[in-house]
Amino acid sequence: MGAKTRSAELLYFIKISLFCIFLLVQKGFWFYNIHYYNLPVGRILEGDNLMKKFLALLMAAMLAMALVTAGCGGNDEKQAGGEKLLRVGTEPSFAPFEMQAEGSEELTGFDMDLIRAIGKQLGYKVEISAMGFDALIPALQADNIDVALAGMSITEERKQQVIFSDPYYKSGLLVMVPKDNNDIKSIDDLKGKRIAVQIGTTGAFRAEKVEGAKVTAFNDNGSAVLEMKNGAADAVINDAPVLKYFLAQGGSEYAKTVGEVLNAEDYGIAVKKGNDKLAADINKALNELKQNGEFDKIYNKWFGEAK
Ligand code: GLN
Repeated sequence: MGAKTRSAELLYFIKISLFCIFLLVQKGFWFYNIHYYNLPVGRILEGDNLMKKFLALLMAAMLAMALVTAGCGGNDEKQAGGEKLLRVGTEPSFAPFEMQAEGSEELTGFDMDLIRAIGKQLGYKVEISAMGFDALIPALQADNIDVALAGMSITEERKQQVIFSDPYYKSGLLVMVPKDNNDIKSIDDLKGKRIAVQIGTTGAFRAEKVEGAKVTAFNDNGSAVLEMKNGAADAVINDAPVLKYFLAQGGSEYAKTVGEVLNAEDYGIAVKKGNDKLAADINKALNELKQNGEFDKIYNKWFGEAK
């Protein structure tokens, strides 16, 4: 956003300068007019050739600069202090993929490390902003972000709206219930039950298909889990790695997952439709990071073993 404002300011400055040059030229001719007021116009314009050449050159240079500056406002080449800027959107209630680092404003997690590495590979300064999961695709379409990275599953519906990078993580859905519940053993036992989910996620879409279920959608995953913890929901449907991480981080005191992993899903990095160049660049960087071992390093950091 800062880069956009800066180039708009520069453009404004150049427009003003062009106007001043125009006035100067006008005033110059007016001066000749006074001087040769009794001569025909043709003669006046023949006047000082050197001066005219200089002014024409100056105007051409200013025009070229204005055009170059206008170009800087273009899609994926935003500048941040001389560096290209990659605006990334995420939803940070999805540990260990994206979450708030403890005691800091910084967002951390597997996805965050991955996009910073991709940005570095492509020479971008990466700027990450947090928003609701269901706001990510609209933000891409409105050109408010260049990339959405939020453990986003590649689905046919979403492919109508955005371009996905090559898959970077294999995932799936799981059902989580209170630890002391012995009735719900799989998704089949959720008929007519209360299910808490995160809005706009594949978990939410799956829950909607359960016969007679009362589905409540929350803006973030924490609230969905809390609903179950408080006894206001019988189950949560969410991505398997996120639920497993949650249980490992202390959630197992009061919750457990049941049944098999549902819906094999791959995560992809989403960009705006039409931004094929950025999608191709991301795939190229992703590939390079897999080749040079950087991807495995990041994977190990968050999941323990290379894949
Ligand atoms: N993978 C799921 C989806 O794409 C959930 C993502 C999330 O909650 N961040 O819908």
